[in-house]
This record gives sequence, C-alpha cells and structure tokens, in this order.
Amino acid sequence: METNRELQLIFQKRRDKAVKDLEDRRSEIYTFIPKIKSIDKQISKLGLNIAMASIKNPDQAVLEMKAIEEEIKMLQQDKDILLTEHNIPRDFLTIHYQCDKCEDTGFLKSGKPCSCYKQELIKTSYIHSNITDVLERENFDTYNLDVFSDEYNEAYKSSPKAHMMSVLANCESFVYDFHLKDQKNMLFYGQTGLGKTFLCNCIAKALLDKGYTVLYQTAFRIIDTISNYRFSNKKTDDMRFRYNMLINCDLLIIDDLGTEMINTFSTTELFNIINTRLLEDRKTIISTNFTPQQLAETYSDRITSRLFGQFEFIPFFGKDLRWEV
Ligand SMILES: [Zn+2]
Repeated sequence: METNRELQLIFQKRRDKAVKDLEDRRSEIYTFIPKIKSIDKQISKLGLNIAMASIKNPDQAVLEMKAIEEEIKMLQQDKDILLTEHNIPRDFLTIHYQCDKCEDTGFLKSGKPCSCYKQELIKTSYIHSNITDVLERENFDTYNLDVFSDEYNEAYKSSPKAHMMSVLANCESFVYDFHLKDQKNMLFYGQTGLGKTFLCNCIAKALLDKGYTVLYQTAFRIIDTISNYRFSNKKTDDMRFRYNMLINCDLLIIDDLGTEMINTFSTTELFNIINTRLLEDRKTIISTNFTPQQLAETYSDRITSRLFGQFEFIPFFGKDLRWEV
C-alpha cells in the first residue's frame, strides 16, 4: 500500500533529523567547551576497550569491564558538571525525538502502532486533511473572547461573550478529562460564522498534542467515505482504513451535520457510526447549523434519541463573526 511506504519515509526522516540535530548540538558544544570534546573521545575509546576486553580475556573481562564502566561514569559526571557550569541543560547532548513513546519509529516496543503513527496515517490518507496549518492558527492559545459581543440576549439569558466564556471552559475540561470514561459528547449548534469550527479546531489541536488520534471530517465526506467502502467491489486497504478510523479514532469531529445527502442509507450509516462509538466509549463532537428541532425533523428517532440522550447540546448565538474585524 502506497501510504505505508510514504509513512516509513516520514518516520525515517524524523529519526534522521533527530540524529542530525544532536550532531549539530554536539559540534556547537565542542566549539564552546572544547574540554567536552576530549571527554567524549576518552569515553568512546573506553567503550572500545570494553569490547576488546571481552574478546581478549573473557575470564577476567567481567572485572575489567566493571572498572572501565566506572571510569566512563566518572567522565559522564565531569561532562554533566561542565554543562551545568555553563548553564546548558543536561539533556542537550542526548537525542530528542519528536515522539518519545516510539522514538520516532512509529511503533511501540509491543509492536503496536504508536498514536503518532496512526495520526500520520490519518493525515496521509485524507487528502483534505491540511488541518495542521489551520491548527497552528486556531487553537486555545489564539482563542480570543473579545470577538464576541457583550450585548445581552434575552432568549439565551446571557451575552454571547459570557456564554462563550463558559463554553470555552467546558471545552477545556473536555480536553483535560478526555481519558475519563463517563464524559459527555458535545453537539455545537447555531448559524455559520459563530465560531463553532474554531472551537472544534482548538479541541482537535489540544488532543493531538496529547497524543490522541483525531479525525475531523464534514458529514458530507464521512458519508462519501462510507459509501465508497460499502459499494466498492474491490476494497483497498486505504478504503478499509478510512472506514475503520471513523469508528476507531479517539475523537471524531463530525462537521456540518445536515449538509450531507440525507437518505435511508446515510442516516443508517450515520447512526451506526455514532452508536458504535458510544457503545465503545469513544468521544464524538458534532457541529451543525440545524436547530435541535430541525435535527429532530430531519433524522430518524434512533439518531435523535442518541443525540439528545448522549450529547450535550451547546448553542452558539450572536452576530456573524466573519464580518467583524
Ligand atoms: Zn510515536
């Protein structure tokens, strides 16, 4: 499968970069503190001696090796002291992987794929997942409550700003408590331009940073993915993966619910996805322009009872933010 080769390359590059960065840091230090260079030379020479000792004289090797190891330890300590004296962090001369869990191999010691690997798989499998760029701009750090109006809204008994402040806190605790089992799923509803997508992006970014797999798709594309999978005579690994990810990813964000083609097939499949995720205790966030009433009128009772029972409905109201700068 094409994707696998692509991924191997990505992880190979990451490891190469980690090694290269370490070399760069090392040569920087060698110029800055030449003493460290000579210590490193001694250490590698001693390492060679250990190897030699075990070949030349296996009987006495254990003792000799112990002595050499002691010596190496002392030299390491000298190095640490030198670094501290120059205010350089001690891990400056150790390798820094992008993912410590799998050391940028993509796989854990158990042989299972690491979460970072799964996330890359999602990215490479979904052509439209140029989400990483968006997430650099739209995340909890860049979230600005000042764009919301202070004007009191009679219907909601709150101003958009005060309301969004509590929604924001709600979303942050959703991320914080993500590992807990009994958390509610969320459904954002309201017109376009009120910041639903922005908030979804904030949550996606925060969970990606925590190492979870997040899949962010419009309802339209989800139905597309499912029908490709269901109706194809020759199912490729790629199709299977895309389909399975809808069920298996840690967080599924269904964007723009209601813009997909709505028919028996799509509502049945949608119900399957939502319901299976609920049963397996995987979280889902839905965003829609429909009002709760429109949802009830559009979807089957099976879907709506799941939504109303298992999702926290969060309204977005106020003026369209896209026209205000
Ligand atoms: Zn990893």
